[in-house]
Amino acid sequence: MPRKSNLDVISQDTIAAIATPPGVGAIGIVRLSGPQAIRIASECFRSRRQTLEQLPNYRLAYGEWIDPERVETIDEVLVGVMRAPSSYTREDVVEIYGHGGPLVLRQVLAAALTAGARPAEPGEFTLRAFRAGRIDLLQAEAVADLIEAQTESARRLAMRALRGGLSERVGQMKEQVLELLAHLETHLEFPMEAVEPMAPEELLAKAGVIRKEVKDLLEMARRREMYRRGLVTVMTGRPNVGKSLLFNRVLGRQRALVTEVPGTTRDTLEETIRLGGVELLLVDTAGGRDVEHAVEKLGVKRTADAAAQADLIWFMIDAAEAVTPEDEKWLKKILDATRPESCLLMLVLNKSDLMVKPPEIGSEIFQKTFPKRKRFTLSAKTGEGVERFLAEVERACLEQCPLAVESDLLLNKRHERALEEMLSAFERIEQATKGGLSLDCVAMDLWEVKSGLDRLDGVKASDDLLGEIFSRFCIGK
Ligand code: GDP
Repeated sequence: MPRKSNLDVISQDTIAAIATPPGVGAIGIVRLSGPQAIRIASECFRSRRQTLEQLPNYRLAYGEWIDPERVETIDEVLVGVMRAPSSYTREDVVEIYGHGGPLVLRQVLAAALTAGARPAEPGEFTLRAFRAGRIDLLQAEAVADLIEAQTESARRLAMRALRGGLSERVGQMKEQVLELLAHLETHLEFPMEAVEPMAPEELLAKAGVIRKEVKDLLEMARRREMYRRGLVTVMTGRPNVGKSLLFNRVLGRQRALVTEVPGTTRDTLEETIRLGGVELLLVDTAGGRDVEHAVEKLGVKRTADAAAQADLIWFMIDAAEAVTPEDEKWLKKILDATRPESCLLMLVLNKSDLMVKPPEIGSEIFQKTFPKRKRFTLSAKTGEGVERFLAEVERACLEQCPLAVESDLLLNKRHERALEEMLSAFERIEQATKGGLSLDCVAMDLWEVKSGLDRLDGVKASDDLLGEIFSRFCIGK
């Protein structure tokens, strides 16, 4: 994390770090940024063909990297130069491509430090890009999100944020707030002039447009886990109905332990799968049987916890046995734990290969929770009906959870907090306007919204906040 005292003088230093991950690789990259980058690199670089000063931007020079103190060759390298402001940090940047061994790279870096660079703090290259105004805070965070992205949707969303999608929306909201403020303040400053005060209805309507945008963003922020990990899909049902086997079949490989003894899947297992345009985080849970075994009890609790997070529940029963009282009891528990408004429940009648005739679903609670279109008969063992089921899952997800696939923003906890504060300011504005409070109060709350937006894109970010955000990055980024 950048120390506070560093923040002001930060760009005077030339920083250096290994930019590739630890471990052995074909090549490894050391990166330098700062006013002395080219001079420092030149001290460590020998080439018969050209000097780094002569090297045009974005070209590579071939040569040897030497330890300037011992004049000993460390590695054979390619070096690229990107002069300010045409670089990631907008400073002079030099990248050294060496052989990807940890020792080699450490020595390449050590040589640069000997020649006058200092080791970079985590995220310091990106911090410099932010300080130079090349990217705003939302984009800086998107860089970290992109690096950490584990699902296709998370990658896509981070890339959009990096391109400035979120910044643009925040910018537009700021303009709207400022416009409203300009009107209010003109009226407050020149009450005698011919400026008509805005009628409360009009004021509320204009504020309402911005407030809706804040609310939409907040909703997206709250659903971020879904984009990061995929739609949380919990497989549940009493022991031995075939959850693990279906989990394995869907995954197309052996992951869960499948056994003939009830209650062996004690922990929850998670894997991400992709069905066309939808990503699911598939969770296999322990069954719902009331057993004494402590480990299994923990598993049962985990299932209830998982159900509370679920966007999708595959409730499994044994098609050969139809619905048992145990199934009913378990379904009740699951229904208590889920968020009924946003969770999609599907009934999986497994073991169709053992089924003599289609089972009767007599139970009222099953009838009610799973109308016919939500029942799927299949066999985890033979694979019969599985493809049809998955196609239906994809279709239902696209239909019921459009946000799962089409959102253009990836927001984090920090954004969520800022948005929540803005929303409370809007609530106060509404009360003030309706209650006939002075326009002064409304203006003050609008300024608060503006300052929340400034915090979002980093126009007004404290050093502590910057430290917190950039410490998430790896060194070299
Ligand atoms: P879980 O406790 O719900 O995870 O159940 P498992 O996946 O461990 O399966 C329990 C037993 O039922 C195992 O012996 C499986 O081979 C068997 N089984 C699971 N699905 C099917 C199926 O579709 N047809 C048949 N015949 N057996 C199945």
